[in-house]
Amino acid sequence: MEGLIALELTNVGRLVAHLPSRHEQLEAEASIDNLVPDTIVSARGTVTATRVVMRRPRLRFEAVLMDATGRLDVVWFNGTYLREQVQPGTRLRVQGKLRRVGHKFQLANPSFTILREDREPEEAAARIRPVYRAGEGLTSRQVERAVLAVLGRALPLIEEHLPERYRKDRELPLLPEAYRMQHMPRSFDEVGASRRRLAFDELLLLQLGVHMKRAHLRQSLRSPALRWSAEIDARVRERFPFTLTPSQDAVVADLVKDLTAGTPTNRLIQGDVGSGKTVVALYAMLLAVASGHQAALMAPTEILAEQHEASIRSMLAGSRVRVELLTGATEGREGLLPRLAAGDVDILVGTHALLTEDVRFASLGVAVIDEQHRFGVHQRATLRQKATGGVGGGPGLPDNRTPHVVVMTATPIPRTLAITLFGDLDISTIAGLPPGRMPITTRVVGPEQRDGVYAFVRARLEAGEQAFIVVPTIDPGDAAPEERLEDVRSLVRRLEGGPLKGRRIAALHGRLKRGTRDTIMERFRAGRIDAVVATTVIEVGVDVPNATLMVVENADRFGLAQLHQLRGRVGRGSRKSACVLIAGERVTDDARARLEAMASTRDGFVLAERDFALRGPGELFGTRQSGLPPFQVADLGRDLDLLKLARRDAAEWIAASPRLARPEEAVLLRRLLKVHGASLGLGDVG
Ligand code: ADP
Ligand code: MG
Repeated sequence: MEGLIALELTNVGRLVAHLPSRHEQLEAEASIDNLVPDTIVSARGTVTATRVVMRRPRLRFEAVLMDATGRLDVVWFNGTYLREQVQPGTRLRVQGKLRRVGHKFQLANPSFTILREDREPEEAAARIRPVYRAGEGLTSRQVERAVLAVLGRALPLIEEHLPERYRKDRELPLLPEAYRMQHMPRSFDEVGASRRRLAFDELLLLQLGVHMKRAHLRQSLRSPALRWSAEIDARVRERFPFTLTPSQDAVVADLVKDLTAGTPTNRLIQGDVGSGKTVVALYAMLLAVASGHQAALMAPTEILAEQHEASIRSMLAGSRVRVELLTGATEGREGLLPRLAAGDVDILVGTHALLTEDVRFASLGVAVIDEQHRFGVHQRATLRQKATGGVGGGPGLPDNRTPHVVVMTATPIPRTLAITLFGDLDISTIAGLPPGRMPITTRVVGPEQRDGVYAFVRARLEAGEQAFIVVPTIDPGDAAPEERLEDVRSLVRRLEGGPLKGRRIAALHGRLKRGTRDTIMERFRAGRIDAVVATTVIEVGVDVPNATLMVVENADRFGLAQLHQLRGRVGRGSRKSACVLIAGERVTDDARARLEAMASTRDGFVLAERDFALRGPGELFGTRQSGLPPFQVADLGRDLDLLKLARRDAAEWIAASPRLARPEEAVLLRRLLKVHGASLGLGDVG
């Protein structure tokens, strides 16, 4: 029971919703003397002896299993790690193919379950067994028994939310049936059919939510139609210290089309690190200002906000556009807010601080969110509500007004996936980098070359350049000793005492106060620090043109997206940059592939596609970062076809029934609001 509580399986609904992580074919158990050679057999017994055989080429672990009827020899090749778990006295259930070896029988590399007391009753008949995530002293078999105990009563209570016709057209089993097939499958076909149903449900609900939101935006909300003319365009471009690339121009064209219409823009601009998204966003903001409205730019950190403000201010120097900064650290906030509300500020740059309730605009025309993956979907919704001074209308303004929203991300999401997932966003991509970018040399080295790496770092620092050195942990002891991970504190000490003696080194990590962190970055940017030893806190958009070196320790421990973001911190000035990835001592094949990918290309989109191919969209360029709810069943790598189907269906469905208000949609709507209502801000829709 405690185990069930620990897994949060505290009511019948949760128990039934706790789906098996996989299913396995279970053969009926037989006594050892009844096992039939050359077939898949299953037996249980007590281990009476074990030994490790170290003879090459194949190290192996052998055990003797006895029951009342006889003796079975079991061998696991390369199984020496099993010696801790499997010892004389251990009771095991084994399953595998029984072979004749000489005059004896042997079971090679069987799957096995360690039997604890009597928690695992004998499997008398062959069947498909669901395997549950267990833990906390609870076995999969115990979860299974708890589920089976309630399943009969629970299933009739599960309401179907799909209309009958639709469900049949799509060949989807009934919802209660699908749960039954997961927990008590009669065949692997049932496992597959029910998985498809449940995965499709997850995808369809999300797509319906996203399309519903979009329909609501388009139909009932209005944004100001901004003015555009060749003259305005020329005036805006005059402010930029460079000519836009064709790719930036194409995105600007998308934006102009969006912003000059009265329907709210909801556009995602994705572009690699350094691709020049800011200036494109500034174009949109200046269109708002030219039309007599205001614009806001929200960045995830104070450093970034300040950087944006400084560069925007310098581009607009001598113009009439009034730019202000608002972060948690801003002094004189009391003076600023009334000016903002009166329309005496044109562009407000800031952090989350922009979202606080007392921040009111006279007329917010364009809201830009930088590094969107750092913010949740919620925050996008909150900023949207600020059109006219908070929720509801300002004086004399209709309350269905909302700003155009432009979000930017350097987290490349494979295009197919992005289009399908972000149903509520239109997407523009800035391809490539602006011209004149210096190349970054990337090298992957082993730990034995570390001395050479730091000698190289020293030489570059002495030549007046600066370095980032990134490590996975902050303090010694943050990771298990056998992991041998570098940490900020030890590395700073070592470098100061040896390879980088006499250089100015600072530590930068998440356990420092934000103010301290900002001061360090500021000093680094001003050239008063030569190298920062940091965790990935420096991952996001900081611009230090004089930093030419990025060294990553234990580089195999970082994801591809992270490595790519880190590398993007250098190569921003006029000098040649280098990125050195120092691998740890034991590198998995997966990690090796990541490091090789890094060395082979600088293009974030190529990397994203490769990562996607390698492991699906999981953690890295992933959906979690994008503020999307994770799925329990659906797997975006494997279920892309289902996702496309769900997206198409959802689009048609919402077009025909924008509020899902038909009686046969009642259960569906209820479920949709429950799952996505809050995160998609559908409260005002349903
Ligand atoms: P990101 O897309 O990562 O936010 P930024 O907007 O910070 O990139 O731009 C990176 C750098 O490239 C900035 O220093 C910016 O001034 C510069 N830049 C942007 N567009 C161009 C261009 N068309 N030509 C030359 N430099 C550009
Ligand atoms: Mg940026």
